[in-house]
Amino acid sequence: MTAEMRLSILGSGAAFSEVGHNSAHLLDGKLLLDCGAPVTSLLPGIGASVGDLEAILISHFHGDHVIHLPTLLVTRRLRHPKAPPLRLIGPPGFLRHLTILGETAFGTGLWSRIEAEDGPLWARVEEWEEGRSDQVAGYQVEAFSVIHAPELECLGYRVSIPGLSLGYTGDTTYCPGLLRLARSVDHLLCECTSFSRPQPTHLWGEEVAALMRELPSLRLILTHLNERRPLPGALLASDGLTVTLRGCAGG
Ligand SMILES: [Zn+2]
Repeated sequence: MTAEMRLSILGSGAAFSEVGHNSAHLLDGKLLLDCGAPVTSLLPGIGASVGDLEAILISHFHGDHVIHLPTLLVTRRLRHPKAPPLRLIGPPGFLRHLTILGETAFGTGLWSRIEAEDGPLWARVEEWEEGRSDQVAGYQVEAFSVIHAPELECLGYRVSIPGLSLGYTGDTTYCPGLLRLARSVDHLLCECTSFSRPQPTHLWGEEVAALMRELPSLRLILTHLNERRPLPGALLASDGLTVTLRGCAGG
């Protein structure tokens, strides 16, 4: 039997893009990779629900990757009160950033009231570093440290099931962590913020093309786009697109 994952693109745009929502990607309706798009209202359009999520992996704390997280958490609490606790995984500092984000979004009243009624919403927050690995929502997940913004610790993730692995770069430069992640997976959901010029804190088309030359068997899906241009051999993400990723047969 061939291993499969269903990858849905909810947000394929870069921070200040006009070609798509900010970063959010969903695996098999249950594992969310970043939460920059209005995920709660986009999920029904692809036949998914915030109540069915099991875990969220956050790559870093720039707004275009986390800004809708408070809305998602409160919506799940109010609309799906029987849903089990979500695992929220992100880099060091996640708890502090999420608290600031949540209190800014809804004030300390609502945020604190939910916490008081449900116990600490934050108990499910996990702060991961390079090399940490665990079973998450039925996948084996491993964190890779990547270099993006000097003031932030940023993670990419390897998500795998037997016979199939997907890497998610988050935001990154062409750094050793990116290469280690890319070498370890079959498919790579890879940021490509520009096709026309180098970026100081991101990847651009020439670097992605170099990665493809170095790893010719790697299958790339490009996201975090500022513009939409074809890159031969890579799939360009677009909002609402769902693709089925397949691995080798057997284990
Ligand atoms: Zn960023």
